[in-house]
This record gives sequence, structure tokens and C-alpha cells, in this order.
Amino acid sequence: MPDNITIAVSKGRIYDDAMPLLAKLGIVPIDDPNSTRKLVLETNQPNIRLLVIRATDVPTYVERGAAELGIAGKDVLMEYSGDGLYEPIDLGIAKCRMMLAGLKDAKPILDRPRVVTKYTNITKNYFAERGQQVEIIKLYGSMELGPVLGLSDWIVDLVDTGNTLKANGLVTLEHIADISSRLVVNKAAMKMKNATIKPILDQLSDIVS
Ligand code: AMP
Repeated sequence: MPDNITIAVSKGRIYDDAMPLLAKLGIVPIDDPNSTRKLVLETNQPNIRLLVIRATDVPTYVERGAAELGIAGKDVLMEYSGDGLYEPIDLGIAKCRMMLAGLKDAKPILDRPRVVTKYTNITKNYFAERGQQVEIIKLYGSMELGPVLGLSDWIVDLVDTGNTLKANGLVTLEHIADISSRLVVNKAAMKMKNATIKPILDQLSDIVS
């Protein structure tokens, strides 16, 4: 009997990019999350279901064993402070970069630079490693507005095409990290449900390599 497996996947781009990978493993959700209000999606595999949740909640569900597997962006995993997760596979999907950006025609910064971001841990670690003092201001969205409205000197955010920065008069200043989505695995489940999880990991590794 295969073990029951719950896979937590974040909504949006990661979900869209992850479904073709799961389909190659023969795992296909029965409902479309865009047209159902269900948060737990059954799949064509009776022992496998999907949870479609907020990106930042995926590590919590997996670390606490509410889901055995999860698919989350490296940005979310870098920001998450728990350590109860295995991160065995870079799925190579939802790729982008974590960047420091500022106004194209910025005035010189005379004081401690102010940085708006929703990635406060990543930002803190980045500047701590460089030994640079900054003031970090947490925002939950539309970070690009920070420098435009004088709330901050810089932003730390994800950049894909660069169009959002450009449209707001911002330019990239420094590359902080390459980002892509990773498979994460609950540590206890890796042992207890190894017979079911190992083949999934092996097949996924083959598909993405
Ligand atoms: P772009 O204009 O293509 O550079 O995209 C930048 C916007 O999309 C920013 O608001 C980012 O937060 C968001 N973004 C880009 N790539 C990703 C990704 N892989 N995952 C989540 N958000 C992303």
C-alpha cells in the first residue's frame, strides 16, 4: 500500500510551473485551483493530494508534517527560519533573481541607507555579511514605491524581466541571490514514508536534471 502523501504548493506562478512536472510523474489534480474554492485538491492518484496555499506558508506546513512534500521558492526558504526541512531538489522553475535596486537618478546617500523589503531576514543577512549598517523597513507589497516616495533609498525584491523596476524609474544595483523553486521534504516523513517518497524524488531528479 503506498503511503498517503500531501504536497503543499504555493499559488500562482509556482503552481503553474510545477503542474507540468508533476504531470510527468503521472500526478494530475482533479480540480483546477483557478476555478474551485477547494484548498485541498484530490489528484488522479488516490494516495496523493495537493494543498494550494500561500507561498510563505509552505515551509510551515511541511516542517510541521501537515504536508510531507512542498514546492516553494528559494526566496521563501531563505526567509524562513526553521530547520526541519530537507531541500533535496532544485526544480529549476519560477526562476528569478533577488536584487538590490534603487532610483536611476538617486541623490547621494548621506546617512545610513534605508531599505524597504518584505524579505527582512535575507536583507539583514546580506548587509551583515558585508558589514554595512542599514535601516530595514518591512513592507508587504509594492516595494518599488519606497524610493519613489522617499520612504527608502533602496529596495530588495525579486526581479524577473526587470519591467517592474523600469516602469518605476529604478535600476538594479546588486545581485543578492539566484532564485528558483525547490522541493522540500518533511524530515520524519522522509524516514517513515521513504518507500513512497524516494521514487518521487528519484523521478523528479531525473526529470529536472
Ligand atoms: P518583473 O517585472 O518581470 O521583473 O517582475 C517583478 C515582479 O514580479 C516583482 O514584483 C516580483 O516580486 C515578482 N516576481 C518575479 N519573479 C517572481 C517569482 N519567481 N516568484 C514570485 N514573484 C516574482
